[in-house]
Amino acid sequence: MALDRAARLRAAVERDGPTCIWCGCAFGAQVGPTTEHVVPRVKGGPSWLENEVAACRRCNSARGHVAPVEWLEECERRGWHPDGQRLARLLDALSRAIAERGGQRRARPYLDAQRRRLRRRGEAPAGEVGSGRPA
Ligand SMILES: [Zn+2]
Repeated sequence: MALDRAARLRAAVERDGPTCIWCGCAFGAQVGPTTEHVVPRVKGGPSWLENEVAACRRCNSARGHVAPVEWLEECERRGWHPDGQRLARLLDALSRAIAERGGQRRARPYLDAQRRRLRRRGEAPAGEVGSGRPA
């Protein structure tokens, strides 16, 4: 059964931990999570859990429709603490989900370009060989 939006947001927080992907702030009574689309909906991004991640309201509205990797770099320039590993995991998971379910013709090239850009930065999902971090 498909999850509704609120249930997907809860699932995203459970999956990734209770922090904003872009600034790293902890969710709590003062700051609630909002649904952020990795591939923006205006770029054809699906409303799937694999394309959704939790961000605080400030970051969500500040990003607008900027591409995720571009925005990751902007967050770093601003001195925030974006979670590049989380983004890398999500881009990979979304890519796999699209391969399994098909469709998403508009999102595919956008997603591939973002994954290439992230790879050029040397960002790889945690645990992947060659991530350069000691175990
Ligand atoms: Zn934030």
